[in-house]
Amino acid sequence: MRLLLVEDEKRMAQALCEILRLEKYEVDHYADGNSGLDAAESEIYDIIILDVMLPGMNGYEIARKVRQKGIRTPILMLTAKSELDDKVTGLDSGADDYLTKPFMTKELLARLRALVRRNINMLDGNLSFGDISLDTNTSTLSCTGNGQSVRLSEKEYRILEYLIANQGQILTREQFALKIWGVESDAEYNNVEVYMSFTRKKLAFVGAKAEIKAVRGMGYELRCGNV
Ligand code: CA
Repeated sequence: MRLLLVEDEKRMAQALCEILRLEKYEVDHYADGNSGLDAAESEIYDIIILDVMLPGMNGYEIARKVRQKGIRTPILMLTAKSELDDKVTGLDSGADDYLTKPFMTKELLARLRALVRRNINMLDGNLSFGDISLDTNTSTLSCTGNGQSVRLSEKEYRILEYLIANQGQILTREQFALKIWGVESDAEYNNVEVYMSFTRKKLAFVGAKAEIKAVRGMGYELRCGNV
């Protein structure tokens, strides 16, 4: 899971980055509103945490602009206790949930898990699409039609996870490179193609009807074979 944190208070941001990385989130941190908005619009994140008071542009404006662009990434707003109307304003602006500072780590992690689940239809630790199911604990891919299963490598798992989370959308090579390797470069574009072919072989191995379609000149999309 790749997470975007936009927070200008240094100590708070540092502590959050540490906690979230321990929980295996890949965290990118920005300390001002404008770079936070740019990052949010890259659409490579599974979840976005926004502080309200930020230099440049506040968290509400970021959320509003992100939603205006049709980006549905779950947003959790962090608000100060003194800002009483924040809850309403936050949800109005397109945030999915809010948390009042100071908060307990446990509470934050629970909210994040709930938002991720809501976004990707996760049932009992499984992600599913068509006739395939992905066990998020063991990185096992199964075909629900015939019960066949296979373990995925880390990159293969992340490719499928990203595709399932964004079903119905075409994802570009650039998005995969950024999302999974963290950088855009020719070398990473080659990696995307190589790992995409490994992932396709795993889908074929379990006999899934679901497949990764290459959309010429655009990117990749997950489709269910019979559609
Ligand atoms: Ca702040």
